[in-house]
Amino acid sequence: MKKFPKNVPSRTNPFVYLFVIALVGAALALFSGGDISFLATQQVKEISITQMLEKYKADEFKQVQVKDNDISAESFSGEFFHAYKESTANIKDLGLDDTTKKTTVTVVDTSDGKLWINILIGVAPFLLLIAFFVFLSRRAGSMGGGESGPFGFGKSRAKVYDKTKHQTKFADVAGAKEAKEEVVEVVDFLKNPKKYLKMGAKIPKGILLVGAPGTGKTLMARAIAGEADVPFFSVSGSEFVEMFVGVGASRVRDLFKTAKRNAPAIIFIDEIDAIGKQRGQGMGGGHDEREQTLNQILTEMDGFEPDTSLIVIAATNRPDVLDKALLRPGRFDRRVHIDMPDMDARVQILELHSQNKIWEKGVNLRKIASKTVGFSGADLENVVNEAAISAVKNRQKAITHKDIEDAVEKVSMGPERRSRRITEDERKIIAYHEVGHALAGHFSEHCEPVHKISIISRGSALGVTWFLPEEDKYLMSESKMKDEMVSLHGGRIAERLIFGQTTTGASNDLERISRIARAMVMTYGMGDQNKVGAVVFAEKTKGYAGLDFQEKEFSESTSRIIDEEVQKFVFDAEKTCENILKKNLTLLKVIAEDLLKKENLTRDEFLAYFEKTK
Ligand code: ADP
Ligand code: MG
Ligand code: ZN
Repeated sequence: MKKFPKNVPSRTNPFVYLFVIALVGAALALFSGGDISFLATQQVKEISITQMLEKYKADEFKQVQVKDNDISAESFSGEFFHAYKESTANIKDLGLDDTTKKTTVTVVDTSDGKLWINILIGVAPFLLLIAFFVFLSRRAGSMGGGESGPFGFGKSRAKVYDKTKHQTKFADVAGAKEAKEEVVEVVDFLKNPKKYLKMGAKIPKGILLVGAPGTGKTLMARAIAGEADVPFFSVSGSEFVEMFVGVGASRVRDLFKTAKRNAPAIIFIDEIDAIGKQRGQGMGGGHDEREQTLNQILTEMDGFEPDTSLIVIAATNRPDVLDKALLRPGRFDRRVHIDMPDMDARVQILELHSQNKIWEKGVNLRKIASKTVGFSGADLENVVNEAAISAVKNRQKAITHKDIEDAVEKVSMGPERRSRRITEDERKIIAYHEVGHALAGHFSEHCEPVHKISIISRGSALGVTWFLPEEDKYLMSESKMKDEMVSLHGGRIAERLIFGQTTTGASNDLERISRIARAMVMTYGMGDQNKVGAVVFAEKTKGYAGLDFQEKEFSESTSRIIDEEVQKFVFDAEKTCENILKKNLTLLKVIAEDLLKKENLTRDEFLAYFEKTK
């Protein structure tokens, strides 16, 4: 079935075709029925069949024409006659085959036109019905999300990967070394299944690519497709979720059927969490559909033999929400983790996306990589692209190092918004707020170093203090979390110390503080060991009729203790912060006033203040 884009009125309405057919039919009927050939325009005398035959026998006729039930005749005197006969009576029965007569007898064959009309009359109602259903199913299809082929909603919409068009190879995936190694193995399964079967090894059925958004899961799958040399069916989990119950399941069936026919093959289900969420969580129609779809996937995965050479690859950034049944052996039992890129991987990704771009000399990608801790592959691609765009905007011949540095800031903090009108008073508050963060952070041992302070609006933030980790870290210590809270308090406390009151600008800071404190107590067991201890206090989110509910797995009294512990963490951090800022009040004022003038302070400019005081 051909696919048409959504919302484009799809082709001509089938009713139009039907209408045309009917018109043609009517015209045909008119022509074939109304034609009495040579008698058409003459005066015709209606006579009986007996009279007609008598006149024939008397040899009065020059010619006689028999057409269906009509007998027409022209006499030698130039008169025209017409009579009706029985439809079964032929010229022999009527005695019109007398060769001794001078009359030319012709029989006009009308069976063709008749046939046409008969067929038309017989078939038209059915055509009409079919057209009606087609029309309905198209409407339904487009409501459900774009399938416009007749009766196409149960069909899978998997895209078959066209190797001639896309040429993604493993070389296009930078970094992710371990993940690539595992995936190369998968490709080898498909290319040389015998090698593994001979050894008695089972070929895995399902592989789950797990990684944060933008780490290159979809890219990896495309690379597998490009390398594996087998048909690759790609489908996104959300495409199974339809408003019609049962459609998702039938799509799954169709997808596996097609893939099995083409084995060895790969099925790729992107964003599988859209369907693979734990079952039985919610009630209400929407969940039922997802459940059916999921069950169908499980059934299909159990249904094919291990030597079918069919591998199902799925990608998700939420493996925690996936149904356990999906993850058990025989299904997606292999997990390939794609991590956030580390320093070396970031350099490689930046280099890869820089290949087709024009760079000025002196651009140091390693330096950029060191400033982009926590950026995903997609972020890095975005950075390089933003740099190129800004170079074009400024009519440069090549991309400079500054372009890419600015792009890093833009990607991580949003674009600058210089047009936002901010009053002088507000600017002052913002400056003190940001310097408060910076100072509190600077004097906390475990806080990341200050990279930049800015009072230019970016995205939704009015000002930014940018702390930048110097290296990749995988563990977060208790003291680091505490210090982070201290620096987050800095903004609000600076406002209070200088202006005597706080503003709404600190709401985001407070949110983050609470989140850290709650996580410390409830998730990481960092609270008072005598009160709450090393217990994980889970709050489950349950869906019910489309709403999410928090369900606590602990008692009310425990809840109170947790709250107290959380408050203690928050309060301690606030006290520490206040002490730091009170001690450095003059420094706070000096730096804030400078920031008001300069709008931005770099790391070096910020550090210079502390050298003076030493
Ligand atoms: P995911 O599916 O994990 O959310 P994608 O595969 O869609 O992420 O990645 C988005 C884009 O980011 C890719 O098209 C690619 O250009 C870039 N990208 C991500 N990771 C890498 C990587 N390791 N190497 C090169 N490019 C990458
Ligand atoms: Mg993706
Ligand atoms: Zn703040």
